[in-house]
Amino acid sequence: MRRRIFFRLMAAFVVVIAVIAFSIELAITRELRPPSAGRLENALILAVIFALLIAFYFSWSAARSIGSRLNTVENFASRVGRGDLTARLNDSSLDEIGKIATALDDMATALEARFQELRTSSRQLETLLNSMQDAVIAVSREGRVEWANRRLERLVGHARVDAPVVETVRDPDFLAAVREASQTKDVSSTRATSVVPGRIFGVTAAPMPDGGAVAVLRDLTETERAEKTRRDFIANVSHELRTPLTSIQGYAETLLEAAPESNNYREFLEIIRKNASRMARLTEDLLTLARVESGEQNFELAPTRSEQLLDEAVQSFREIAKSRGIELQVENSAGGELVDADNEAIHQVMSNLVDNAIKYAPTGTRIVLGARPAGDRVEFFVRDFGPGISSEHLPRLFERFYRVDKARSRESGGTGLGLAIAKHIVLAHGGTIRAESELNHGSTFLFSLPRAAESPVPHEQQRA
Ligand code: ADP
Repeated sequence: MRRRIFFRLMAAFVVVIAVIAFSIELAITRELRPPSAGRLENALILAVIFALLIAFYFSWSAARSIGSRLNTVENFASRVGRGDLTARLNDSSLDEIGKIATALDDMATALEARFQELRTSSRQLETLLNSMQDAVIAVSREGRVEWANRRLERLVGHARVDAPVVETVRDPDFLAAVREASQTKDVSSTRATSVVPGRIFGVTAAPMPDGGAVAVLRDLTETERAEKTRRDFIANVSHELRTPLTSIQGYAETLLEAAPESNNYREFLEIIRKNASRMARLTEDLLTLARVESGEQNFELAPTRSEQLLDEAVQSFREIAKSRGIELQVENSAGGELVDADNEAIHQVMSNLVDNAIKYAPTGTRIVLGARPAGDRVEFFVRDFGPGISSEHLPRLFERFYRVDKARSRESGGTGLGLAIAKHIVLAHGGTIRAESELNHGSTFLFSLPRAAESPVPHEQQRA
């Protein structure tokens, strides 16, 4: 670089000196006669040589100074490029190079501060992720480990960065969730049972903006064990209560038959019978819920016509509804649609919904049942024109023992478990359930079931 500057400066000087010398030479040959012209020409040649020597000296010293300053700038740039943000030029001169050097120093100082901030926040994030109880792993678009926290390393023994994730976490459900999040760009959740033998993990995989996914693994072993203990306890208690309750009911009924009409005891016995049968209903519902919730109940799914499910519900409740002055109607049965359903279980769902509708619908109104195709599902609905439910209750309606009006529910013989049972049965079918309602404008309960592909078992055969 230094040589190039030198040659350029020299070239400029040579051109200038040559132009001046040529002009003087021209003036001498025009104005003067020999021998004075010859003397002046000799003096001119000497002056040109002298001027060239001075030009040479200036070019050389200027090239040396500019070249070495530009070299410093070049070194500075390559240090910054290598990530050394402490590099500085410290050139305080006021010329153009000095101004550029000051600007570059300011830029390096700002970059260093920014990098420091980034390093601090990334260290804080890393500490936070490492202190988490949940295991976290980031997987690249190519399916390689990008980062894993300490909890994950402790779980799987090792988590080498850049190693294929299949070699790090060998669980097909986990891998499927990560793949799905990465491909669909949507959060995907699953339950993984073979990450560590004997332990159950809830996996939530979320997509990363530049491809790949971050998965969080939460250990659910203890929670599921506690949940199972609770379910077993409820099922056992309910089972144990069944026999004494049947006995109380039986004796109360026998005593009622024998008690004289006018006797006060009749009233007491009636209270005993009523409460015993309420408790019996409650224990039955608790047992059903425990069975469905635990997944122990085997549903026998078969392609069933939606129309048939609706008809059976109407047949079971027509008389009860009539006795209360309520009309049951089937509005839209999606007749030809087939759903995968366990007939008995879905009948229970329908019964719980229609039973509630009858309980809440005022005399003289109607209850509408129906079904309609909804994508790869069929959606069933039960609509009443009763008091409705205000919106704040809707999200919690399917929780066990959740009642909007406790007194009314108890008075009507409700256990508070009907909707929870319906929800678990529908979920076990791969369906969904929800309620739409507005205060004083009735309620609609809707549940969907997956469509069946096969042809249905003939109507008569199913009933047999
Ligand atoms: P319950 O045995 O009390 O009816 P459910 O689980 O079947 O228990 O229902 C939960 C609560 O949802 C009920 O207590 C009631 O407050 C409300 N509910 C259910 N169905 C209806 C309906 N059709 N109209 C108004 N409220 C309803």
